[in-house]
Amino acid sequence: MSPIPDDDDAISFADLNLRPELLKALTGLGYEEPTPIQREAIPPMMAGTDLLGQAATGTGKTAAFALPILERLAAERGATESRAPMALVLVPTRELAVQVSEAIHKYGRDLGARVVPIYGGQPIGRQLRALEYGVDVVVATPGRALDHIGRETLDLNDVKIVVLDEADEMLDMGFAEDIEAILEQAPAERQTVLFSATMPPRIESIAGAHLREPVRIRMGRAAPEPGEAPLVRQSAYVVPRSYKPAALGRILDIEAPAAAIVFCRTRDEVDHLTETLNGRGYRAEALHGGMGQEARDRVMSRLRSGTADLIVATDVAARGLDIEQLTHVVNYDVPSAPESYVHRIGRVGRAGREGVAITLAEPREHRMLKTIERVTRQRIEVLKVPTVADLRTRQLELTRAAVRETLLQDAENGGLDRFRMVVETLTDEFDILEVALAAVKLVHETNGMTDDDEEIPDVQLRAGPRTDRPRDGARDFRDGRERPGRRDGGPAGPGGRGRAGNPGMTRLFIGLGRRAGIRPGDLVGAITGESRLGGRDVGAIEIADRFSLVEVPDAAAEDVIAALRTATFKGKKATVRRERF
Ligand code: AMP
Repeated sequence: MSPIPDDDDAISFADLNLRPELLKALTGLGYEEPTPIQREAIPPMMAGTDLLGQAATGTGKTAAFALPILERLAAERGATESRAPMALVLVPTRELAVQVSEAIHKYGRDLGARVVPIYGGQPIGRQLRALEYGVDVVVATPGRALDHIGRETLDLNDVKIVVLDEADEMLDMGFAEDIEAILEQAPAERQTVLFSATMPPRIESIAGAHLREPVRIRMGRAAPEPGEAPLVRQSAYVVPRSYKPAALGRILDIEAPAAAIVFCRTRDEVDHLTETLNGRGYRAEALHGGMGQEARDRVMSRLRSGTADLIVATDVAARGLDIEQLTHVVNYDVPSAPESYVHRIGRVGRAGREGVAITLAEPREHRMLKTIERVTRQRIEVLKVPTVADLRTRQLELTRAAVRETLLQDAENGGLDRFRMVVETLTDEFDILEVALAAVKLVHETNGMTDDDEEIPDVQLRAGPRTDRPRDGARDFRDGRERPGRRDGGPAGPGGRGRAGNPGMTRLFIGLGRRAGIRPGDLVGAITGESRLGGRDVGAIEIADRFSLVEVPDAAAEDVIAALRTATFKGKKATVRRERF
């Protein structure tokens, strides 16, 4: 395997020979340069070679396979109006099917690419119409893809590229045989691309059987030399995407950095975040790759002189920046490669001073954090997002410190004397303690201590190393029972086996079972599609004739119940509640 080169080998999207329509879409999305996995995967994919890539969510792997698919689509499909898809992307969950198909749609908008997600849990009629109408790229969960192949509503005869995305995750969910069956049906002369966050033997054997002389790509393993690693306190917060701006604001309030740089992936993100942070009372400055030297210098000198507290930048924009005063580096997203993480945090912790590196990760990206920990051989502590109460306590501490400083400095040199009259006249009417309280309140408020009372959900991640086996509770069903007709026995009703439940998990009752055609993939798909959980957060699943039981982390149970109550399973509504013991 060739390790991915580090961040300094600047290659642009144009260097990758992408056509103008795609370059325009990427610029529009604010992507400034390809991520390492894109640099490595796009050329061989465009050359038609099979590819085996080790990459987790957050590395930019979707664009790494989507852009070559779209290139080939534009080159080969041209004016022919075939209705059958040219590319098939298999993904483990409904959530990912929607996400990947939206991404391909965005990149391929100017090429008129027709992309359809198909997954369990959505009424089949809509999918049938989309397939009938004509489609270029199908992004599907394996179970539902196989259903359509069986019904002859998904025709693989024109398929030139098959992508297996998050292959280890698909195997964990019991899709191994479905994947085999689909690959058997796809034309033999196709190009096959497999991405997986881990490379256990089962993935190697699928690759051995179905990929032809693949180019292998993996995240670089180069660990920093001893002594090279900076003295940096590293922590991460796992936050659902929609709460990230609020979470960042709160973390910064608690950390109160003297000078920080916040890294974002795209220019748009830089702009939005700069605006949000300014709205929260920070003096934040955006730094773009497209800015001229003079504008950059201006921003830098504002940070140096303390006129700005934060710089919000993309990697490209921050290249070559050297700021002595920096105390904090914030990764608003998990960097796309460990090298980029090391590079970013190397900007603090210089000359023996302690620096702080903070990373915000979406629940799906927690594996990328683990990869970074492994490669850098440094621990990143996952912390809870400060609560409203934490923030209030911290704000009061800051106010107390400010008042104390004034007392220490000004009381001695008489700087407080001119306010004596104010206090004395007020004490005719009020108790002196009340006067002090009112004055402190004013200080507190004028110092911009905003009242932020939105609670940010605490996402619990599973502890411990990942293996290529399904988790204990899930092993019951995942390998053998995924497919209807293969399942024998199992719980006949409440009181079946395995009732004790796993620690930290809440068991939910869903009032639809085998008779309604429910399969584990449908439940996982509905949960990951409707809530903030990822496929790996879902625990043991049991499917009985008339109901199903599924475990979710305790902390997420209420959210999942609320979300599933409005969801449909195979087009049907179901009773959803906590399972009573
Ligand atoms: P993925 O690993 O494919 O899930 O992508 C993670 C995130 O990175 C998505 O939000 C993409 O929009 C974003 N992304 C992908 N490629 C780039 C790039 N070259 N520059 C900036 N952001 C990117």
